[in-house]
Amino acid sequence: MSRALFVGRFQPLHKGHEYALNYILEREEELIIAVGSTQDNYTFENPLTAGERIEIIWAYLKSRNLTDRVIVCAVPDINNNYVWPRHVKSLVPHFDVVYSGNELVLMLFEAANIPVHKIVEKNRDEYQGTAIRQKILRGEPWEHCVPPIVANILKKLKFEERIKRLAKIKK
Ligand code: NAD
Repeated sequence: MSRALFVGRFQPLHKGHEYALNYILEREEELIIAVGSTQDNYTFENPLTAGERIEIIWAYLKSRNLTDRVIVCAVPDINNNYVWPRHVKSLVPHFDVVYSGNELVLMLFEAANIPVHKIVEKNRDEYQGTAIRQKILRGEPWEHCVPPIVANILKKLKFEERIKRLAKIKK
C-alpha cells in the first residue's frame, strides 16, 4: 500500500488543491493532508482557523466519498526548516512519498532523504489563495476558483467580510 503526504495552508481550499488531490489519488492508494501553519488564523494571509480549514477539507472529501482514503492532520510551523520534516513525521501517520508544488517543501523533504514527487501547478494566476483574497478585496468574482461546496461553507463563515476587515488591519 502506498500513502502520500500533501502539506498546505488551504487558505482557502481551491481548485488548484483539488487538481493536486486528484493527481495524487490517481497515483497513490492513501493520502495524508497535513494542514500547515495551524498556529495562524485571523490574519490577511491566514484568515481561516485550523479548525475551519479541517471542516472545509472534510466536507469536501465527504462530498466526493474520499474519507476512506484520506487522513487529515494539523501541523504547526516550527522555527527550523531543516528539522521541519522530522517535526511533520512526528505528527502524522507513516507516509511513503511527499507530493508538492512548493519548492521549499520539496527541498526540505529531499534533504531529509524522503522521496518527493513534484506537482506542476495549474492555472496559478487564479487558483491561489493570495489571488482569491485579492479578488475579494477588489470586489471581483472568486467563487469559481473554489469547489462549490467550499464556496457554500465560506459564505456561511462570512469569509468575504473577514478578508475585507483583516485587510484594513494588515501591517
Ligand atoms: P498552499 O495551500 O499554498 O499549497 C499547498 C499545496 O498545493 C502545494 O503543494 C502547492 O504546490 C499546491 N498548489 C497550490 N496551488 C496549486 C495549483 N494552482 N495547482 C496545483 N497545485 C497547487 O500551502 P503552502 O504554503 O505551500 O503550504 C506549505 C506549508 O508548509 C505551510 O503551512 C508552511 O508554513 C509549512 N512549512 C513549514 C516550515 C517550518 O515550519 N519550518 C517549513 C516549510 C514549510
